[in-house]
Amino acid sequence: MTVEVLIAGAGPTGLALALWLSRLGVRVRIVDKVREPGTTSRALVVQARTLELYQQIGLGRTLVDSGLEFTGLSEGRAGAVHAGDRLPWVEPAPGAKDNFGPLASLRWQVHVHGAASPELARACAARDLPLHVFSFGPAAARAGMVRDALYLVRPDGYVALADPSGGRARLERYLESRGLRLEWACGAEALREEGGSPGPTHPVQPDAEG
Ligand SMILES: Cc1cc2nc3c(=O)[nH]c(=O)nc-3n(C[C@H](O)[C@H](O)[C@H](O)COP(=O)(O)OP(=O)(O)OC[C@H]3O[C@@H](n4cnc5c(N)ncnc54)[C@H](O)[C@@H]3O)c2cc1C
Repeated sequence: MTVEVLIAGAGPTGLALALWLSRLGVRVRIVDKVREPGTTSRALVVQARTLELYQQIGLGRTLVDSGLEFTGLSEGRAGAVHAGDRLPWVEPAPGAKDNFGPLASLRWQVHVHGAASPELARACAARDLPLHVFSFGPAAARAGMVRDALYLVRPDGYVALADPSGGRARLERYLESRGLRLEWACGAEALREEGGSPGPTHPVQPDAEG
């Protein structure tokens, strides 16, 4: 058989690539260095970003319907942003920070548009939870953000907690009630800095006038 593309590795990346190319009419062959499929599970959880990709090839709904949906991680709403939503991109003013930039670190993190209270800053510092403060302007309002509200963002770029009060109490309650330990994300960050893991999963938007 004549093929146009040879794919090395029959993991999720290779198989997804093969599916995409086949749908585009490209003939592929997949080779793998091992003869047998793996015997251990590596797919207990399907990330939201993975679902977005699957959705583009019509598989998202099938997967959701055949799985168990965990929604207990999401809590609250601030402005138009509900917990469980993808963090909206806020067009930065010239020279200002881009709110998608910090997502490249793959860490749990807190975003505030406006001013963060000292008590929130202390709570984040105590947990080694990065706090990113952005100026609040018309672009943030257009994106549905509330001034000084707290948005706890998961490593996959979705909002876990949205709290219009911006205080520390609800953040701490949220983390404690779910027994969330955030250290693993610091490990991922360290790995990335050493060049040991793939790059950012979220595109960093170019600066634009806001
Ligand atoms: C214990 C565990 C649990 C996990 N749980 C989840 C989960 O719940 N949800 C989730 O989303 N992710 C999970 N993951 C992560 C997920 O498994 C990986 O992100 C995913 O497998 C990466 O896919 P990949 O195709 O890039 O690489 P791999 O899955 O590593 O596939 C690479 C393939 O290439 C082959 N190969 C390597 N070198 C060569 C070569 N030179 N020539 C030919 N073939 C080669 C390998 O044999 C392998 O089959 C888990 C991982 C582990 C280890």
